[in-house]
Amino acid sequence: MLFTYPKARPHRRHGPYGYSDYQRYRPWLRDEFEFRCVYCLEREIWTKRKRAFDIDHIVPISQSTDGELDYENLAYSCARCNGVKSDQAVQDPFFALTDSSIRADSNGVVTGTTPESKDLIRKLDLNCDDMIKWRCLKLEHETLVQHDSKKLASLTRLPEDLPDLSRLNRKPNTRPEGVSESWYERRKKEELD
Ligand SMILES: [Zn+2]
Repeated sequence: MLFTYPKARPHRRHGPYGYSDYQRYRPWLRDEFEFRCVYCLEREIWTKRKRAFDIDHIVPISQSTDGELDYENLAYSCARCNGVKSDQAVQDPFFALTDSSIRADSNGVVTGTTPESKDLIRKLDLNCDDMIKWRCLKLEHETLVQHDSKKLASLTRLPEDLPDLSRLNRKPNTRPEGVSESWYERRKKEELD
């Protein structure tokens, strides 16, 4: 299902730190959030526009600069969601938006089952008309190709340019073991497809 949120995990896979520009965390965040927006699940491969994705500060810099370069305060977000979120502080979506706390129905509406996910749906306006229409279109597409495994897989495939995080691992990292679980490494080991 295209709008099934990720399973809950106890912590992030990666833990880089020490960069002086938050944009440098982009490859880590792309891998961490599986090349899709943490809020609405838009995928990189669904958009042709380069740089259609932003790096979101979960606690905005306007409220506190403490988290400006803190990996745990950064999330991978589409430009639409980052713009709507704007200066609002929200619960960490890594923990608050999981398959057990938010679900999308066939009518394109997402429903939260926890106070945290409900709050995120409201603040990100995830049930505005445009978002519902967009989800319905994607779900119709999914239904149309459901018996064609190749076309179905192309709806959820990973981008070609998976980041090779082992080349970035010269910076300190509290979870260096996460690199071997990155999508680049998994593709190299032919664990994908
Ligand atoms: Zn989004």
